[in-house]
Amino acid sequence: MSYKAVNPYTNETLNEYENATTQEIEAALQTAAELAKQWETEKRSNRKTILQAVAQQFRTQKAAMAKIMTQEMGKLIGEAEDEVDLCANIADYFAEHADEFLEPTEIPTKNAKAVVLKQPLGPIIACEPWNFPLYQVMRIFAPNFMVGNPVILKHASIVPGSARKIAAIIEAAGAPTGSLTNLFLDYDQIAEVIADPRITGAALTGSERGGKEVAKVAGENLKKSTLELGGNDAFVVLEDVDKDLLYQVAPAARLANTGQTCTASKRFIIPDALYDEFVQKLTAAFAEVKMGDPLLQETTLAPLSSKKGKEKLQKQVDEAVEAGATVVYGTQPVDLPGQFFMPTILTDITPENPVFDQELFGPVAQVYRVKSEEEAIQLANNSRYGLGSVVMSSDPEHAFRVASQIKAGMSFVNHGWTSLPELPFGGVKNSGYGRELSESGMLSFVNEHLIYEAKN
Ligand code: NAP
Repeated sequence: MSYKAVNPYTNETLNEYENATTQEIEAALQTAAELAKQWETEKRSNRKTILQAVAQQFRTQKAAMAKIMTQEMGKLIGEAEDEVDLCANIADYFAEHADEFLEPTEIPTKNAKAVVLKQPLGPIIACEPWNFPLYQVMRIFAPNFMVGNPVILKHASIVPGSARKIAAIIEAAGAPTGSLTNLFLDYDQIAEVIADPRITGAALTGSERGGKEVAKVAGENLKKSTLELGGNDAFVVLEDVDKDLLYQVAPAARLANTGQTCTASKRFIIPDALYDEFVQKLTAAFAEVKMGDPLLQETTLAPLSSKKGKEKLQKQVDEAVEAGATVVYGTQPVDLPGQFFMPTILTDITPENPVFDQELFGPVAQVYRVKSEEEAIQLANNSRYGLGSVVMSSDPEHAFRVASQIKAGMSFVNHGWTSLPELPFGGVKNSGYGRELSESGMLSFVNEHLIYEAKN
């Protein structure tokens, strides 16, 4: 069976599901198309009330929802609870701001009235990853629900319980059938759904591999797509950094969610004068983590999400070392049954090293020594990815100047990566295109329909 959740802490199989049948897919497409039609004439205020109820459901069922995520993909229970809160905030945000973002805009033009209406495109498909099983879905569902685009969800195959739970919560809050339909699709079925004339667009968050496939099928069928892909984010430290803040921010920027975050800081770029101290402090912080049961509050580093994920990371680290990288800390096996990976620090990575331009999806930090700020910026930009970055300096103007030269979709100054409903999320280069969250995200699958009325 292709949809299967295995607890990465206990290695126990939690649940398994068959792929969707042809009949289930047809029913989902038809229901979505009919609902989109119904929403064209229905007041948006009805959906506002429902989305607020969805937020409320997330808050009241927080413990159960967090536990499902922790059991299916291993994240720390505290991080899972924060994720549920963030989902509720995203739902509330789009419920509150939809009228403002979808208000028609008038364009000044000569001898005519020009108005742009923001109309729904119709049903879309969302292919989502396992690393934030509820938040990734909410990023797509909440804005599109308010726009009036029903969503067909194809979630990652290792978190089927999370997929079913979010669909159930949305239904329990009163959303009409078809607002979000979870389907366990294989890759061929995804292509069929994208190609179906009732589907108007495809959103994918995940790897370059998945992104390329979905974008290819969307392109062949002339459907709009958005891609939120991986990253190899730089963490650029400037010489005038506040060191206390640096040592507080850096370890979490790499280790949160066990390093399995697209916008995690993966490459630490450190000025010569600070390099030795930084490596020593990062080592000390990594050595302090407590691996164990992610359901326990005292655990500070969870297992990776799957055996496959651990094997891939181990292979990448082995290849890096073979190509000359130095292991400053980590890489030893962890004496626990789950899919644990010891936090690891690699240095001496040259541009020829295979991992130089790869995403390491786990608790592995690469540290680079640079001799100047120019070299730091150049190194930060020497990547096929362009998702996020962090710049650390005690002079905010200095940090801003440097951040603005980094080729990324998001840069955070004196703060690790973060995500809030009002902040646009997305990248450039191989990190994808389009934005989620914020007003930009809400307009991703909107027909900005111009009406030009000549004044005679
Ligand atoms: P993934 O393998 O690409 O999977 C993402 C989704 O796409 C899953 O539902 C997956 O289904 C599906 N998929 C994969 N290959 C496909 C194909 N050939 N055709 C159609 N669908 C396909 O990515 P992942 O390993 O789950 O997630 C980790 C990646 O996501 C990392 O690179 C991370 O940086 C990135 N990410 C990016 C963002 C962002 O906002 N930029 C946020 C979070 C994560 P199956 O599970 O069935 O394979």
